[in-house]
Amino acid sequence: MKSHAKAVVIGGGVVGCSVLYHLAKAGWTDIMLIERSELTSGSSWHAAGGFHTLNGDPNVAKLQAYTVQLYREIEELSGQSCSLHLTGGVMMADTPERMDFLRLAHAKGRYLGMDTELITPSEAKAMFPLMDETNFVGAMWDPVEGHLDPSGTTHAYAKAARKLGAEIVLRNRVVELTQEVDGTWNVVTEQGTVKAEHVVNCGGLWAREIGRMVGVELPLLAMEHMYLLTEPMPEVEEFNKSTGREMIGVMDFKGEIYTRQERNGILLGTYEKACKPWSPVNTPWDFGHELLQPDIDRIAPSLEIGFKHFPGIEKAGIKQIINGPFTFALDGNPLVGPVQGLTNFWCACAVMAGFSQGGGVGLALSNWMVHGDPGFDVWGMDVARFGEWATLRYTNAKVRENYSRRFSIRFPNEELPAARPAQTTPLYDTMLANNAVMGDSWGLETPLWFAPKGTEPNDIVSFHRSNDFGPIGEEVRATREKVGVTEIANFAKYEVSGPGSEDLLNRLMTNRMPKTGRIVLTPMLNEFGRLIGDFTIAKAGEERFMIWSSSAAQKYHMRWFEKHLPKDGPGASQVRIHRFDQTLVGLSIAGPKSRDLLQKLVDADISTKAFRFMDFREMAVGGAPCMVNRITYTGDLGYEIWMAPAYQRLVYKAIKDAGEAFGLVDFGMRALLSMRLEKNFPTWFRELRPIYGPFEGAMDRFVKLEKNDFIGRDAAAREQAEGPKLRRVSFIVDAADADVMGDEPIWAKVGGKDYGTVEKPHGYGAARFDTNGKEVRGSRAAEGASAVRGIVDGDWRVVGWVTSGGYAHYVQKSMAQGYVPAALAADESAGLFEIEILGSRRPARINVEPPFDPSGEKMRA
Ligand SMILES: Cc1cc2nc3c(=O)[nH]c(=O)nc-3n(C[C@H](O)[C@H](O)[C@H](O)COP(=O)(O)OP(=O)(O)OC[C@H]3O[C@@H](n4cnc5c(N)ncnc54)[C@H](O)[C@@H]3O)c2cc1C
Repeated sequence: MKSHAKAVVIGGGVVGCSVLYHLAKAGWTDIMLIERSELTSGSSWHAAGGFHTLNGDPNVAKLQAYTVQLYREIEELSGQSCSLHLTGGVMMADTPERMDFLRLAHAKGRYLGMDTELITPSEAKAMFPLMDETNFVGAMWDPVEGHLDPSGTTHAYAKAARKLGAEIVLRNRVVELTQEVDGTWNVVTEQGTVKAEHVVNCGGLWAREIGRMVGVELPLLAMEHMYLLTEPMPEVEEFNKSTGREMIGVMDFKGEIYTRQERNGILLGTYEKACKPWSPVNTPWDFGHELLQPDIDRIAPSLEIGFKHFPGIEKAGIKQIINGPFTFALDGNPLVGPVQGLTNFWCACAVMAGFSQGGGVGLALSNWMVHGDPGFDVWGMDVARFGEWATLRYTNAKVRENYSRRFSIRFPNEELPAARPAQTTPLYDTMLANNAVMGDSWGLETPLWFAPKGTEPNDIVSFHRSNDFGPIGEEVRATREKVGVTEIANFAKYEVSGPGSEDLLNRLMTNRMPKTGRIVLTPMLNEFGRLIGDFTIAKAGEERFMIWSSSAAQKYHMRWFEKHLPKDGPGASQVRIHRFDQTLVGLSIAGPKSRDLLQKLVDADISTKAFRFMDFREMAVGGAPCMVNRITYTGDLGYEIWMAPAYQRLVYKAIKDAGEAFGLVDFGMRALLSMRLEKNFPTWFRELRPIYGPFEGAMDRFVKLEKNDFIGRDAAAREQAEGPKLRRVSFIVDAADADVMGDEPIWAKVGGKDYGTVEKPHGYGAARFDTNGKEVRGSRAAEGASAVRGIVDGDWRVVGWVTSGGYAHYVQKSMAQGYVPAALAADESAGLFEIEILGSRRPARINVEPPFDPSGEKMRA
């Protein structure tokens, strides 16, 4: 074993071997993988080997498609077969709601380059005759599904990596990790210590233990998982003989089961409701190539549904039940990337579908390590997406919830109950007393809307407008016409201070920093000129800035800030970045009467001239020391008021008492989001994401190319000079009783005209391989963009995708935001666009100016 390596990958499961292969392919050959036992000694050896491309997050779906396409490549390079069976598969819907879900998934596929097809139950039965089709209302066919040999596939990655120069050390456990002052890692193993620049945690079932070696508790948990194998079945053999084909894979939502052919019998796996964590606190080091005791009682309810839906299987004898553990993060997606607070410590763990996702995870992580950036929009699997609140017990509750709902529909207005409430503000009980329907916002309980007195504060979950529609409308109208108050504790809040802080922010942000007492809005870009943040920044004093942004991005942004803290130069290390989390909470008041209301609570003069739009001021509100921004996300006259939690009840009471005379109402997050829609305001993670440039995102006025050199400036200048290819726009949609949710296709009647872009980008800059596995550099089309197929309908073509939307209650319009080719972005003609909502194409019209207060008069008043 060598004593130095550029990178050490810990763990020889499918994920570790994929990461090793991708690092070697990207040109790092001084790398090694260290495995405790033999390759596949964790979950990988007993996996059912199924793969598919479908994922709730389109960006993760795209990386899954890449994984599937990669298998041929590693087979060729390694000479090792993966035993690929590309059978295709169907998802079966047993209710109209589940069919709506499939329609949505199919619509997304239109711009993701997926060839899915909606089919009837009888058509599904023709491909899988063991089902009783009368149990179902419809199905979706996906040709890119199948199964493979898990062990062969892991070895194929390993052999291919070896061929490219990587070293693999077996039967050698990593027992300790320490870091030198210069950042070098000491990887202490049973066979000695390796000095490494980078360490990658691919420990699978032991990923938590490896995390703990560096003081990190990773939010993942192993769950027991069972699948059964039947004896050979004559029906299967007969089908194979008569059609010359293998039976397809089937996913059944109702039973939370999947099934497919295995040799000449059937494999059926369950995600049972009564699920069971495995080794919830520590994973034993002596666990190896063993299986767990099957527990037929636990899966009996799933089997009952399975046998009813697939009576052909019930008749077969069960040959074996496999029970093995594998790991999940809270939302079922992997944990990938550099861990905030550490240098060169990387994660690729909690990969619950290693054979669907392993390739994409390896590609993104190797890009990140080699080129400093994943090259794809990997937010859906970024290890930074969970906060400190995701403790061991929180994770346990959420993972069990996620497992038991593996194939369940998550409705757009559905809040999941497990592990809640976690964090609460001092107003939590008051909000419950006000009949608030609460939601989870990055681990914090946040009021979503207020149910009328005497009614149950619950959402009726639906893809259509629901019981919140009326009350939200009232909250919006009362705010727009009088005044409303809402909690905004769920925003991210930071303070950057000390000598050098203004220089740092000027280097990170695209906009000029404000003068003392003023506020600016500013995007933040990566080196490739792509959007990685959107901030409100106030200059609170000399070398002191207050910053607000998206709650969920707190660790993601802290990781970026820390990476770019100046390391050299006089005074450089004096910049301090503090994340407040819930040590700073807030309230926002908005509406035409908000100034009159606030004036009752403060001694300062807050008239239009004395406290202008986009001013920041520290002042006492209702007797409590606060910071006040004259700006709100409602786009109306309004204020954000920030205080220590100890004062929040005092300020709220003062607002409520004084507000009575002005007709004050409480409003929730959903009303706030409705109001931002009618102002055409974008949201982070929806409209603004790392796959878009600032000009594509219509953030032009916040990008000051001439101010100073900032990160991403050159790329942004190029984007401006060449002109953005895509453009964010707002639509008014002629919707019926359902509004867009996000990810719907946008159709345009373009006739024979070619607007160039009908592709959703997934990769950028550092993406050295497109999602078809070909090496590419440069052009947007080759940067992993989805090729759109099968989307021409006469003169109509899919030209874009929705990012978010809903009902704009004050202007009484259904609205959507999304991206279309820039050449179409200013065309407000009627009849040009349609947006597909739940399978029905609805007329839509671009609305360049926001329908509410287009001149901004009200917010500047
Ligand atoms: C019953 C069952 C069915 C499944 N079916 C499917 C399926 O159909 N499709 C699918 O995609 N996925 C399936 N999975 C999930 C799949 O197995 C996992 O996604 C995948 O194996 C995860 O791989 P990994 O490399 O992350 O982890 P693991 O396979 O757990 O590998 C981790 C490796 O790290 C090594 N290691 C840990 N700590 C150390 C250390 N300190 N030093 C050195 N080495 C260390 C371990 O020995 C192990 O070999 C199934 C899992 C089970 C249990």
